[in-house]
Amino acid sequence: MQKLVTQVPDATGHFGPYGGMFVPETLMAPLHELAQEYEKAKVDKAFRNELKFLLEEYAGRPTPLYRAERMTQRLGGAKIYLKREDLLHTGAHKINNALGQVLLARRMGKKRVIAETGAGQHGVATATVAARFGLECVVYMGAVDMERQALNVTRMRLLGATVVPVTAGQKTLKEAVNEAMRDWVTNVRTTHYILGSALGSHPYPMMVRDFHRVIGDEARRQILEREEHLPDVLLACVGGGSNAIGLFYPFIGDKHVRCIGVEAGGHGIKPGQHAARFQGGALGVLQGARTFILQDSNGQIMNTHSISAGLDYAAVGPEHAYLRDEGRVEYTYCTDGEALKAFRFLSETEGIIPALESAHAVAEAIKLAPTLRPDQTIIICLSGRGDKDVQQVAQMLGL
Ligand SMILES: *Cc1c(COP(=O)(O)O)cnc(C)c1O
Repeated sequence: MQKLVTQVPDATGHFGPYGGMFVPETLMAPLHELAQEYEKAKVDKAFRNELKFLLEEYAGRPTPLYRAERMTQRLGGAKIYLKREDLLHTGAHKINNALGQVLLARRMGKKRVIAETGAGQHGVATATVAARFGLECVVYMGAVDMERQALNVTRMRLLGATVVPVTAGQKTLKEAVNEAMRDWVTNVRTTHYILGSALGSHPYPMMVRDFHRVIGDEARRQILEREEHLPDVLLACVGGGSNAIGLFYPFIGDKHVRCIGVEAGGHGIKPGQHAARFQGGALGVLQGARTFILQDSNGQIMNTHSISAGLDYAAVGPEHAYLRDEGRVEYTYCTDGEALKAFRFLSETEGIIPALESAHAVAEAIKLAPTLRPDQTIIICLSGRGDKDVQQVAQMLGL
């Protein structure tokens, strides 16, 4: 198993048959430049120290591994811990990656950063680090998402970013990525594209994973301190898959630690009604990588649906497709209704309002914990806080 950790991706960015670099020719040179710069930065003490400093002093790491006692009691089974990425500056795990990439952008002499965003959390993280480093920032966001996540649009604007509404197609994340890639092709000499998940062309899936592995590294240390043994189960929601791979990666070599990724089941597993790529998705290429994609028999990308904008995407990060083939990570899904219930459950039992994305992982814990023994432990990645979702939930519940 240890070989999994060290061998993927290979030099061409492949995780087994997944990943790679499927981009317009004009982007090949900048992607290679980025990969080379990243390899240099990774072993540069000054880079590592500055990133560590920013993660700690600016973003608020390490985040607590919180023992959710009331939740554990109410579910009656395994002991539950929450990895509190919701307590980070800007309210989600996204800042880990945004800080890493903005340091790379500065190393490469770029004066401008761009990003795509779904729920707006990655846009906010990017706008935040751009402000912190005095860089121009443009964020592409689907017009539908701008409506669903109005609070985050305002935050980005307050942080000095330009938010560009994308009105093509379904007006959500996929279209926002297209626009960001179009911008990058045009402005590549001055601009770094801060991609927000473990998705897209090499080196992004690897790089984004590496910037988030701090989640799992800390959790491993913290659980060993508290329980003196490794956890039995790790749970995380999977949009592109960055918070999940961040938590899972340092445990991949520990075969007896079950890793479970939770995708968005939306209204249920019917065409166009969900975003669970491992339920009815097929191998294809989308926006830079070969991976599992929700598509029709002609290879056209299908519409997706999730209550949470951050999970509402037709492709999954290539490393997840690989880990599923290897049998190392299990993937399941929960529906909008289950996520909404979990959202209320965590709020009422622990006084923690989770992001709707994170509520998907909580929903799986609600199903799983009662089937386990009290001496077993579950760590849930609480990827973000739910302030951004409060208005949407209030409308749905008539609060
Ligand atoms: C963006 C986001 C996600 C989904 O993205 P991943 O790359 O799959 O982690 C999950 N939770 C929160 C809070 C997010 O902001």
